[in-house]
Amino acid sequence: MKIRVLGCSGAIASGYKTTAFLLDDCILIDAGTGVGDLPLEAMARIDHILVSHSHLDHVLAIPLMADAVLRIREAAGRPPIQIHALPETLDALRRHVFNGVIWPDFTRLPSAEHPVLSLHPFELGQRLVLRGLDEQTREIEVITAAHTVPAVGFAVSGAQGNWVFTGDTGPNPLLWQRLADMPLAHLVIETAFGDDEQRLAHVSRHLCPSALSLELAQLGGSVEVHVTHIKPGEGEAVMGAVAALATPHRISALKAGDEMVF
Ligand SMILES: [Zn+2]
Ligand SMILES: [Zn+2]
Repeated sequence: MKIRVLGCSGAIASGYKTTAFLLDDCILIDAGTGVGDLPLEAMARIDHILVSHSHLDHVLAIPLMADAVLRIREAAGRPPIQIHALPETLDALRRHVFNGVIWPDFTRLPSAEHPVLSLHPFELGQRLVLRGLDEQTREIEVITAAHTVPAVGFAVSGAQGNWVFTGDTGPNPLLWQRLADMPLAHLVIETAFGDDEQRLAHVSRHLCPSALSLELAQLGGSVEVHVTHIKPGEGEAVMGAVAALATPHRISALKAGDEMVF
């Protein structure tokens, strides 16, 4: 298994793209602005999109890529791209994005019989088994997150352990309970704010370095930890504070273009 980071920033600016991870060229995990850097042909190969929650920085590329790849997928007779998310997230996409006002309803286009997108609800704890163009299956568990809207993270099974993405989350003891008996190859965990914005992190249910420290204290062993979702311009403040933490884990900042093999 291989994950390529297309975007891992908490907002946009030149050189900063929001959350999107590409698993083995056929499964997208979150659809932030990073998706826009994929060549059209590569974008058209994506058969599944897993969405952690409804916030714009994680869903923005879904309506735009649907429009971009529609012709190629229709000409190749490809099935709809499957969007997998909590029922509340799918409902938000239906009501607030694909509503004919913000964007056309691509779950009925180019035709209601053969649309470019289809919506598939999952539930917390579910193990998804997804197959891409290469006919190989991949197992992904939907794991807990604690955010301002219904949200999840994902754990992708690999030969060398799981690749775990927390999604957007504040402090979440249930996550550490679940990860206690899960072999971890990589942990991608958000730290959206610096400690100077601790109050903002708390009300928006994100982490800051001091909160990250309390979370990682609940994780055993020595794990490869990748910090994601830092706001543009805050990288030095966040990673400076993270570097000062006393922890057995190996922590670095995730960058667009990084690849993780597991
Ligand atoms: Zn969010
Ligand atoms: Zn976010």
